[in-house]
Amino acid sequence: MVVKIDKKKCISCAGCVAVCPVQALELKDKYPVCDEKCINCLSCIKFCPVAAINLVKGR
Ligand code: SF4
Ligand code: SF4
Repeated sequence: MVVKIDKKKCISCAGCVAVCPVQALELKDKYPVCDEKCINCLSCIKFCPVAAINLVKGR
């Protein structure tokens, strides 16, 4: 599973980047991108104020 950002919903608050315990998220061109360090902890999904983050299958 991998974290995917819905760019139509994301307001670029960067909060998800701050809450990620393994620094798997990074803002690139205003939107967060998830790398292979993600441990699927769901912290970013719970944090996101606009529900722009989803877990999806694959990479
Ligand atoms: S699910 Fe957890 S580890 Fe993965 S990007 Fe979100 S906060 Fe980071
Ligand atoms: S927490 Fe949600 S709105 Fe904020 S940067 Fe992350 S994905 Fe975008």
